[in-house]
Amino acid sequence: MRRWLVLAACMAAGGAFGWWAAAREGLPWGLLLGAAVWQLLDTLAARRLLQWLRSEQTHETPVPMTGAQPRLPGVWSEVADRVRRLLKKRDQQYQGNQARLEEFLAALQASPNGVVLLDAQGRIEWCNQPAAQHFGFDARRDLQQHIANLVREPIFKAYLAQGDFSRELAISGHASTPTRPVKLSVHVSGYGDNRRLLLSRDITAVEQAEAMRRDFVANVSHEIRTPLTVVAGFIETLQNLPLKKAERERYLALMAQQSLRMQTLVYDLLTLSRLEGSPLPGAGEWAAVNTLFEQCEQEARALSSMLAPQGHELAFESFPVCEITGNASEIRSAFSNLVSNAVRYTPGGGLIAVSWTVLADGRGQFQVRDSGPGIAPEHLPRLTERFYRVDRSRSRETGGTGLGLAIVKHVAQRHGAALEITSQIGQGSCFSIVFPASRVRQL
Ligand code: ADP
Repeated sequence: MRRWLVLAACMAAGGAFGWWAAAREGLPWGLLLGAAVWQLLDTLAARRLLQWLRSEQTHETPVPMTGAQPRLPGVWSEVADRVRRLLKKRDQQYQGNQARLEEFLAALQASPNGVVLLDAQGRIEWCNQPAAQHFGFDARRDLQQHIANLVREPIFKAYLAQGDFSRELAISGHASTPTRPVKLSVHVSGYGDNRRLLLSRDITAVEQAEAMRRDFVANVSHEIRTPLTVVAGFIETLQNLPLKKAERERYLALMAQQSLRMQTLVYDLLTLSRLEGSPLPGAGEWAAVNTLFEQCEQEARALSSMLAPQGHELAFESFPVCEITGNASEIRSAFSNLVSNAVRYTPGGGLIAVSWTVLADGRGQFQVRDSGPGIAPEHLPRLTERFYRVDRSRSRETGGTGLGLAIVKHVAQRHGAALEITSQIGQGSCFSIVFPASRVRQL
């Protein structure tokens, strides 16, 4: 409405001017001049509006409006106002979307699993830090690179090319070396417009656990099969052959020996599984170290006289009355495993010294030293692995299961203690369990 009033005012002023200049003949020219002036003013206003809009839209992505809105006459002011509001709304929406996208990417970044977004051609659009580590990408530099150029494992290339992503694929990680293999599980899923989402997970620990489980089952089966075959063979002989009494008794003694071997194995396996499955021993009950020591000594003397006719020189050093807190039967089993190992692996006549010392910082050290054959350094880190044996035949001959030191290590760990082993070939061995000061008290 105002626009037309301005036009009328311009024309009236033009008409008056025309009348003043040339009376009746000047009137139409005056009106025309008034309309032209109005048109000129209107065009200038439209131009200012256009200039302002252009200056606001020079950015590729919307940014908040910076330039001040120009003061325009009439309808142009309203046009400018409405455009400004529309642009402001669009900017706010864009900022909101941008913030949500950043939050979403931050969440993906925090994932422990690798996440890679691929475009329809298989080029990397985005990847998080775990994925960069898994595959050895540079999260910035390698954007827009084709994934198959960076992950060069042939099975991965075949998996991508095949397009059947119904299953996961296991491949070696970027940091994998022959001595420290790293295994990754990768899974691709399609989304959006032919895009793909690649997830990667470090499964090294799972694979190792699975390999250990397989080895463990194979070892247990092997350990049980050998005595079982022997016992089955003797049973068949006893059933089919008319044996003399002495022979039969010898066979029965051998069968008893083999079944004892199986019994010991099952006992050790149960001990291990109890140690793994039961809650950590608290610090409520106190056991006298002297009592544990005496039991160990009796066992050691019995075993020594059984294994070596001339026996061993056994030195159980005395010490002030002391107590230790934890699970007494677990601690006894750990102590007696170390002492019985010393007796079993030290030839008859050798020296075995067992001691208990409260160290200057209050820690308690149970130590077994022997003058046996000693252990080569390459075996030392593996001694506590289940079924790991250095001297396989000596272990079997003396009723070993290959689980003794694994049990000792477990018991030590459960009591916050450390198992320390030092040994040199020909110089004997020294096994110590060092308990934290909080578990030891002197009376
Ligand atoms: P095992 O039942 O075979 O003795 P352990 O786990 O107790 O199993 O010990 C693992 C291996 O460590 C043994 O097979 C043996 O070769 C070696 N070993 C353990 N203690 C001694 C020792 N005192 N002297 C020499 N070798 C030892």
